[in-house]
Order: sequence, then structure tokens, then C-alpha cells
Amino acid sequence: MGIDNKTSIAIVGGGLGGAATAALLQQAGHSVAVFEQARTFEPAGAGIHLTPNVTRILGHVGIGDALVRSGHLPDSFTSRNLTSNSVRCALPLGDQVKERYGAPYLTVGRGVLHRELLGALRPDTVQYDKRLVSLDDRGTDVRMHFADGSTAEASCVIGADGLGSRVREVMHGAEHPGFSGQIAYRATVPAHTRVPVDRRCITKWWADDRFVIGYPTDSRSGDYYFVAGAAADTWPHPQSWVDGDKDEMLAAFTGSCDEVLSLLHAARSLTKWPLFERPPMQQWGRGRIALLGDACHPMRPHMAQGAAMAIEDGVLLLRCLEAENEIEAAFWRYAESRKQRTARIQAVSAENSWLKDAEDPAWVFGYDATTVDLHEPRRH
Ligand code: FAD
Repeated sequence: MGIDNKTSIAIVGGGLGGAATAALLQQAGHSVAVFEQARTFEPAGAGIHLTPNVTRILGHVGIGDALVRSGHLPDSFTSRNLTSNSVRCALPLGDQVKERYGAPYLTVGRGVLHRELLGALRPDTVQYDKRLVSLDDRGTDVRMHFADGSTAEASCVIGADGLGSRVREVMHGAEHPGFSGQIAYRATVPAHTRVPVDRRCITKWWADDRFVIGYPTDSRSGDYYFVAGAAADTWPHPQSWVDGDKDEMLAAFTGSCDEVLSLLHAARSLTKWPLFERPPMQQWGRGRIALLGDACHPMRPHMAQGAAMAIEDGVLLLRCLEAENEIEAAFWRYAESRKQRTARIQAVSAENSWLKDAEDPAWVFGYDATTVDLHEPRRH
């Protein structure tokens, strides 16, 4: 049972989901090639939360210890009021999370995570400067066409090409992601800059229309990272981010408590990002083409689950390829196995309510992609 290991699998997009999925498939003995539009990956300064549902998988990939060494194990997720700094609630993390879920809650530099994932691949797995422009499912294989005029064939293709997915567009037509009405300023605060925040914890300051979340990304250097989210009518820029203007950010956070204002004042490398989203998709893929990660379920970042969902997708995709004899059946079963969870996470992310008040996070953290039941096989 299972798809033959000689079946060639192409992944379009070598971001967090594509790289993780390539590593999982390769480690299971599959033949994988990744086609990435970028010429090279720049080390990105932003931070990322890795909750136990995803650190468990990263442990299986073999990069869990390296991430623990490079990142930070926060003591708690503490929710505070943006104007008064008073505590709303605090979820203990650290050892309690490890004991309950068997995997840690980590914060780490996004570039570090990406580097570790790419490092888990065999050399030459990723072909850079390959921007997919179109693809044809020819029934027995898929041909991909790239912007440089080259083509490549594979038995099947996984579109892990992110929010503006070309694979999705070729299959389902052009449909731009919707601007959510929120923008996010992202910045780092160097370790030597004194700010009155508890650097051991993740802290989120809440107001009805604004929020700030801050956390360390590296326990050795003490670097601190924050995201400050505010409302905006439009995103008028063609780029997916622009340099941030500190005065504009400070104006958007007028009335915040002193702790938050000190943090915002200390910002370095400030950038401004639009938050986009799409409604849940009914049909993720077709035939020998499947979608994964932001290509099929982009979400606002308020649960810190976008990359986690892409990486969970990779595990379920692998398990379905192992459980089925035909690619089409495996891809159908994979999408059906994932839709409910990713739609729920998209909905809660859109509310921006996650951990605002005391709640049990087990439905997110306790999900084990390696053992969760697969959807029933497709009936002919
Ligand atoms: P991406 O990582 O975007 O990768 C897509 C890749 O495809 C890119 O490398 C791109 O160059 C490539 N590509 C695109 N088009 C083509 C093409 N035509 N041909 C070839 N290659 C192509 N998630 C978390 O889990 N935790 C967090 O704490 C977190 N914080 C976030 C904070 C903010 C402010 C934002 C905006 C997002 C955050 N996320 C977080 C979400 C997370 O970054 C994304 O959900 C995740 O990167 C999705 O992975 P992906 O592989 O689907 O897409």
C-alpha cells in the first residue's frame, strides 16, 4: 500500500511549508524536487512562535534541538490591557507545556527556522530562480513551465507557493486575497536597549482595535521582537511590505501604556505589512496537483499558526500518500483530512481573540499530525 517511492514529487515554493514538506517526504524515501522563485533566501529578521503541535513535527524532522538552542522557551503567554498594562490572564508555558504535550513552545527567528528546514534537505533539492508561470496535468504526469523558459515534469505537484499562489490561480482562476483591514508593524529591539517589559515571556497587549505582541527570539542574544497591529482602510502599495514610519506607528498607538510606548520607541528595522486573508476553500487541488499552506488557507497571524498549519499539512500529505495507491486519491483524502482544522484556525485567527482571556489551548497544541485519524478514503 502507498505511492511508490520512485514517484517524482515536485513542490512549487521553498518557503516554510514547502521546505518542511520536502524534508518529510525525502526522509520517508520519496523523490522530491523544490522549485523556488527566489534567487536566494535573505535571512529574515522577523520572529515566529512554534507551538507544540509544530515543534513535535520539527522534532521528527530532526531539527528540534537546533531550534531550542537558537530560540527561546518563553515562561508564559501573558495578556495585558494596552492602555493600563494590567494583566488579563497568563498561560504558563515552559516545562508545563512540555509535560502536557510532549513538545515545547518556542519562539525563534523566522530565518533560523527556514535555514534549519532547508538544511534538513539533501543538497540540490531546491532549484532557485524558478518562478512557475503555468502547469498542465497531463493525466500521467504534470508539466511545469517557468519564467526563464525552462520546463520540468513530475508525477505530481504540490503548490506551496504562498499567499499569491500561482498554482492555485492556474487551477481555480485569479482571485486576489482580501485585505483584512489591518496592518502590522514589525520590529526588533536589540538586547542592550532597556525596555520595561518581561523579556522571558510572550506578552500581548490588547485593545479593541489595536494590539502589540512582543517576545524574545534568541535567549542568548536577548533580542526582542514585536508586532504592533492597527486598523487601516487600504493597502495602497504594490509590495507585500514597506519600511515602517515610527512616528506614524506611535500616532496609531496614542493612549497606550508607558511600557508599550517605550517598546515602540525602541524599534529598530521597522517594517509595515498588510494582513491578507481568504475564506476557506472547498476544493484544494485537482487530479495530480495539491495545495498546501498559505496557498490554500492563508490566515491573519493572530494565532501564530500559519506556518504551523502548512507544516501539519505536510505530515498529513505524506501519510495520505502512504495510505493510498493512487496520487489523486491520496490528494483528495489529504485535503478532506485537513479542511476542518484549517478552517477553524482561520476563523479564530480572524477574530483576534486567541488567548485574550483564559482558555484551554489543547485543541491547537494537542493536535498530533502524525497520529490524528485520516478522513475516510474516497468512495468510487
Ligand atoms: P511561504 O512561507 O510564504 O512560502 C511560499 C514560497 O513560495 C516563497 O518562498 C515564495 O518565494 C515561493 N513562490 C511564490 N510564488 C512562486 C512561484 N510562482 N514559483 C515558485 N516559487 C514561488 N506563522 C506561524 O506559524 N507562527 C507565527 O508566529 C507567525 N507569525 C506571523 C506574523 C506575521 C506578521 C505574518 C504576516 C505571518 C505570520 N505567520 C506565522 C504566518 C506564516 O509566516 C505563513 O503562514 C507561512 O510562511 C506559510 O508558509 P507557506 O510555505 O505556505 O508560504
